[in-house]
Amino acid sequence: MQTFPDHVWRDIDDHVETTYPLEASGAIVRDSAGCFTVLNSPVESATRDRYEVPPRVLIGARAQQQTIHGFYHSHPDGSSEASLEDLEAMHAGCAPSWPGVDWIVVGTRASRVSEVRQFWWDDATSSYRSKKLGS
Ligand SMILES: [Zn+2]
Repeated sequence: MQTFPDHVWRDIDDHVETTYPLEASGAIVRDSAGCFTVLNSPVESATRDRYEVPPRVLIGARAQQQTIHGFYHSHPDGSSEASLEDLEAMHAGCAPSWPGVDWIVVGTRASRVSEVRQFWWDDATSSYRSKKLGS
């Protein structure tokens, strides 16, 4: 499980709350100096029940020598549990789809963040483990 600095969590919360009632999504990247940044997906790619991190966000990160460490998205008025679609996106067969990347799901109650869960790949069990943050 990766540890991200507090400002990353604040940026994600802000993005999730301002994008409500649509799903917010984005990526957590780190530059060559070791600084973490949250890249928000543009709002036009958000819907009420589906999200997509546009390829140009990922290509832009690579162009700036940033490496991807996490993906996040919200479940408006939902829990932080991964949906079947989320699990599909997280896997490539029986392996992780993005090795070294953690997945963060943010549940909201109305526009407010209510729970956050972080998923990471566990090589020992060849499966994802998750932890509800702040609990
Ligand atoms: Zn989801």
